[in-house]
Amino acid sequence: MTTKITFWGVRGSIACASPDYLEFGGNTVCVEADFGTRTVVLDAGTGIRFLSKRIKEQNVKAADLLISHTHWDHICGFPFFEQIFDKDFTLDVYGGTPEGRTVRQALHAEMSPPFFPVALHQAAASIRFHDLAEKETFALGDGNVRVSTAPLNHPNGATGYRLDGNGVSIAYISDTEHPCDEGVIRLVRDCDLMIYDATYTDEEYKTRIGWGHSTPGEALKIGKAANVRKIAFFHHSPDHTDAVLTAIERDIRTENPNAFFAREGMTVVL
Ligand SMILES: [Zn+2]
Ligand SMILES: [Zn+2]
Repeated sequence: MTTKITFWGVRGSIACASPDYLEFGGNTVCVEADFGTRTVVLDAGTGIRFLSKRIKEQNVKAADLLISHTHWDHICGFPFFEQIFDKDFTLDVYGGTPEGRTVRQALHAEMSPPFFPVALHQAAASIRFHDLAEKETFALGDGNVRVSTAPLNHPNGATGYRLDGNGVSIAYISDTEHPCDEGVIRLVRDCDLMIYDATYTDEEYKTRIGWGHSTPGEALKIGKAANVRKIAFFHHSPDHTDAVLTAIERDIRTENPNAFFAREGMTVVL
């Protein structure tokens, strides 16, 4: 069985809508890992609206949502994930509890006045929340997909995920600042695809140390150290237009032809 990874949103920090962002896309982060028997969603940025429409067409009635952390670019699409208002839909939501705040508490706050007119408790779907301990591992659904986690280096904390299923492995490392510790290297080791926070150029990073993001160059280093097969850079800076990303990607691919910048709507088949 094939596994399909689709990038529904690849932008970090804030959504961008302008002709300068048409190739790579302006929606904030949301990635789908379709294992055939299981739809796994990584983060709920504004890109989740398009995933929502696709799974509605296919009459999918269950999904797992893994939240890296609750900074708004990762959860602002959640109230627009139509399936939460479908009483026949089951959603399992997973996330860490950095600083003692659960994902449920953050989504409840997001869907409360004065931020949003519809409350979380009005969502008719069956929504189950799972609070993850640090480095927790667990199985999804019938056990076909195994999930491993590691803490990331990010203000307020974040969780990195690795999914193993159908004989392939995908690591989702958003958001994080290098150098990555041994836990992250272990998490991504030998994986088929590593999706990595490559927000800044080396030049930009010099003035943004401590902001919790990384660079394409660091992703290449981790990929090499951990024997990763393919690297997808994402969480693109809202300051990086198509022209900027195209130029950076050209340089990166001369170093590693298996590395690329994720584009909104792109599907990678593993
Ligand atoms: Zn982010
Ligand atoms: Zn963040």
